[in-house]
Amino acid sequence: MVNFFELPLKELEDIIGGIGKERYRARQLFRWIYKKGVYDFTVMDDIPKSLRNLFRDMFNIETLQLGGSFYSKDGSVKLSFETEDNHLIESVMIPEKNRLTLCVSSQVGCRMACAFCVTGKMGFIRNLTTKEIIGQVIAARDFLKNRGLSPEADKKINGHDTGKDGNQTQRITNIVFMGMGEPMDNLENVIKAIDILKDQNGLDFSKRRITISTVGLLAGLKTLKPGTAGIAISLNAPDDKKRVKIMPINRLYPVRDIIEFVKNYKTSPRERITFEYVMLKDFNDSIEDAKALYELLRGVKCKINLIPFNESPFSEFKTPERDTVNEFHKYLIERFMTVIIRDSRGADVHGACGQLGMSYLMTKNKEKAGK
Ligand code: SAH
Repeated sequence: MVNFFELPLKELEDIIGGIGKERYRARQLFRWIYKKGVYDFTVMDDIPKSLRNLFRDMFNIETLQLGGSFYSKDGSVKLSFETEDNHLIESVMIPEKNRLTLCVSSQVGCRMACAFCVTGKMGFIRNLTTKEIIGQVIAARDFLKNRGLSPEADKKINGHDTGKDGNQTQRITNIVFMGMGEPMDNLENVIKAIDILKDQNGLDFSKRRITISTVGLLAGLKTLKPGTAGIAISLNAPDDKKRVKIMPINRLYPVRDIIEFVKNYKTSPRERITFEYVMLKDFNDSIEDAKALYELLRGVKCKINLIPFNESPFSEFKTPERDTVNEFHKYLIERFMTVIIRDSRGADVHGACGQLGMSYLMTKNKEKAGK
């Protein structure tokens, strides 16, 4: 049996057309399952009964099982899932004014081994399948329908607590591939998932509302069709000397190659690639670093997100003083760079940047201690 959540619309049409049925039935299935959240084939009443039964026998619609949900004091909610082969994966919902961002994982563990990152410490276990990537979105959507955010978080997004009206309108508006894993190292499944996410008969996210965050695997980035999704590149240091110390991948794709790529990247006039810059105390947070970053990015069409490091017991790195972050920010702003400070969210539920996979490590350590 093929799993429904592995299939972009075109593939589903080919399967249904291939058995001699009308291709438009695929669109109907997309609408029921993705748009309406109905997973029971037998109630899909615009499809003939015999065909409903056939589809039920043809398509598996199992996806991820929600394990736990953890409400953070700041309104974000972490969702954790156990895969069929007993790995833990996590996503986080982050409410902001007029938007609710879902941060999804693309791999169990990660091969990139960035020095400051908790997922990096796990090593690589495996790629997530399309079903598992889409499964995170579906599970989050259903979670909002059944449980919902805290009233404060709801208020933050919508201006008032919609739960109280009895017509909860919480819905995910943005998807970022910033959870566990390196999305450009799982290109095929990530692209398939994005195709499904964007389908107008399905989840209907516009390309402006999906962001792929990557260490800068240029080979993969160059194969992306223009307009696939927004791109964020984790630069994290202003030069090769520093970058290679925290990001081994810099040996393969040094800073100048990344800048070259961004300069040549065809975007619509308003679209920009984002550079992420994790701020690590006494490593890349000085005014000299800000200056070097300015020299590097001067004249490059881009945005910069400064992310104060989110501390964890698994990492020796520390977060800079707030004043240091503000000075760094001010230096760039005064030179007309587009730059914002992106504070991590959900730290108390281990849902903040770079903390996903943490509970996995904690359980593992506990197991070790118990032995
Ligand atoms: N592999 C991808 C996506 C996952 S990491 C990438 O590297 O972009 C998403 C972002 O979180 C990256 O910019 C990464 O540098 C940052 N990050 C990782 N650990 C962090 C931490 N502990 N505190 C703050 N940001 C962190």
